[in-house]
Amino acid sequence: MGFLKNLFGFMSKDLAIDLGTANTLVLVKGKGIVINEPSVVAVKVNKSGQEEILAVGQEAKEMIGKTPGTIKAIRPMKDGVIADFNTTEMMIEYFIKKINGGKKLASPRIVICVPYGLTQVERKAVKESALNAGARSVYLIEEPMAAAIGAGLPVREPNGNLVVDIGGGTTEIGVISLGGLVISKSIRVAGDKLDAAIVDYIKKKHNLLIGDRVAENLKIEIGTAIKLDEPLKTVVKGRDQVEGILTSVEITSEDIREAISDPLYQIAEALKSVLEQTPPDLAGDIVENGIVLTGGGALIRGIDKYLSEAVKLAVIPAEEPLLAVAKGTGAALEQIDLLHQTTFED
Ligand code: ADP
Ligand code: MG
Repeated sequence: MGFLKNLFGFMSKDLAIDLGTANTLVLVKGKGIVINEPSVVAVKVNKSGQEEILAVGQEAKEMIGKTPGTIKAIRPMKDGVIADFNTTEMMIEYFIKKINGGKKLASPRIVICVPYGLTQVERKAVKESALNAGARSVYLIEEPMAAAIGAGLPVREPNGNLVVDIGGGTTEIGVISLGGLVISKSIRVAGDKLDAAIVDYIKKKHNLLIGDRVAENLKIEIGTAIKLDEPLKTVVKGRDQVEGILTSVEITSEDIREAISDPLYQIAEALKSVLEQTPPDLAGDIVENGIVLTGGGALIRGIDKYLSEAVKLAVIPAEEPLLAVAKGTGAALEQIDLLHQTTFED
């Protein structure tokens, strides 16, 4: 902890942190996004049973599924809850150290965007780890709000806007008007569940065992929410479940569409339930404005069409959806008045 305090003591720039379940982004005021790495920590258990950090971020993500028994790759925020407070803190510390680059800076103000589903205890823990680290003040902003600001929506106007952020661990849906979240919902169905559904499907249909990372790559390479006019194909390697031998199988975009149809349906249902709860005047605005998609899940082929067909409203992916929340958190940092309206102190 003392180390963290010192670290912040050397900084003067205010920071915005998007503490995502899959990716953490850090934006330095006046500089833009300086860190964009997976929220993964690799730890090694030493002989006396203590955990030592081996790697954080991209390097640690590359270790997932490839670690020997003594090494663990941890995603401390995986399901939108803090599974491991210590690791979360170590991860924040690591990313801040990376920015510092040895320069002398004064204690910063920090805005941190957290998944909407975090409990009060978890929010407090995030806040305290930043305060302990020497931040002058810490504001938390909720993900749907940051996503909406980052997507360029006019959140302060008396006009309803609906944003759906599909991340790694959670999908967060929010209706925003007059600078506040009117209705919101967080479900633990997002990119990770799609990956898991692909693993299951390929096991059942092709008797092939693949890992989560391979599944994620399939999702990105050939995944689709809707039928494509020209199906995509790729060859995937894995272990044959029956024979036990290593083999390769051709997988099509139709396979992936079928595989992910159930979790996508759950996302559509959550969106419908938010729309059902939206007061009529705001619902009218949303009919006019359409629905904006952010988060990595906004990049799934045809997800806009898929959701649009499900709710019969226009659905528009944000530009650079993976950066929307970080940009929105950075915008909150720029504008103190907005900050006070959209953040809360526990
Ligand atoms: P979080 O905010 O929870 O950290 P992100 O918004 O960073 O999540 O999104 C991460 C998720 O987006 C991962 O599940 C990742 O697989 C998925 N993703 C990233 N790029 C794509 C893509 N091109 N197509 C489909 N999914 C993607
Ligand atoms: Mg996010």
